[in-house]
Amino acid sequence: MKETLTLNDFSIVIRNINTTIQENAVFLCQLDSVVGDGDHGTTLARGLGKSVDAITTTPPATISELLQTVGKTMISSMGGASGPIFGSLFKEMGRASKGLETVTLADLYTMFSRAADKVQKLGKAEPGDKTLLGSLLPAIDSLAESVEQSADIAKSLQKMAQAAQAGVEATKEMTAKKGRARYAGERGLGHQDAGATSIYLMLQSFADTVAGL
Ligand code: ADP
Ligand code: MG
Repeated sequence: MKETLTLNDFSIVIRNINTTIQENAVFLCQLDSVVGDGDHGTTLARGLGKSVDAITTTPPATISELLQTVGKTMISSMGGASGPIFGSLFKEMGRASKGLETVTLADLYTMFSRAADKVQKLGKAEPGDKTLLGSLLPAIDSLAESVEQSADIAKSLQKMAQAAQAGVEATKEMTAKKGRARYAGERGLGHQDAGATSIYLMLQSFADTVAGL
C-alpha cells in the first residue's frame, strides 16, 4: 500500500494528465463552444504539452520545482483567462509542497486547498458560478474526509475523482457568472462546464496513475 508520492510519481502523473487532456481536447472544445469560444481543449492541451516538454528538457529536482515549472509554463503558454487560473493551480500546489521530499495524503490536501484559495482569489468566482470550482471544491472536501479517516492514498484519490465527477454533473444546473460563458447566461443550462470537466479528467488521471504505481 502506497503512503507517499515521490518526485518520480508526480512526474508520471503530469505526463499521464497531459495524455488524458490531449485525448479529450476535442471533447473539451465542444463543451466550451456551447457558451464560450470553443478553445478550452486546445488551450489546455497546449499548456500541458509545453509543460511536459519543459520538464523533459530540464528535469526538476524536487516535487515543488516540478509543479511550479508546470504552472509557470501553463501561464505563459495558454494565455487568456484560463492560463493564469489553471497555471496558478499547479504553481500554488508547487509552492505549498516546498521542502517536501515525498507527499502524504494530508500534504496533498494542504496543497490542493492552497491552490483552490489562490484560484478563488485570482478569478473571484463563487462555488455556484459554473467554473472549475464546481469539481475542484467537492474533490477537496472528499480529500479532507479521507485525511480524517486516515484512508490510503490510492483509494482516497479514486473517491476524490468520483466527487469531482459528481461536481461536474452539478454544473449543468448552474449559470455562468465568470469568464466568457457569463455572456451566454441561461443558454448554458443543461450543459456541463468545460473547466470543471477538465479538472475532473485531470483528477481521474491522477487517481488512475496512483492506482497503477
Ligand atoms: P477562456 O475563457 O479564456 O476561453 P478556456 O476556454 O480555456 O478560457 O477556459 C474556460 C474555463 O475556465 C471555464 O469553463 C471555467 O471553468 C474556467 N473559468 C473561467 N473563468 C473563471 C474564473 N474567474 N474562475 C475560475 N474558473 C474560471
Ligand atoms: Mg474558451
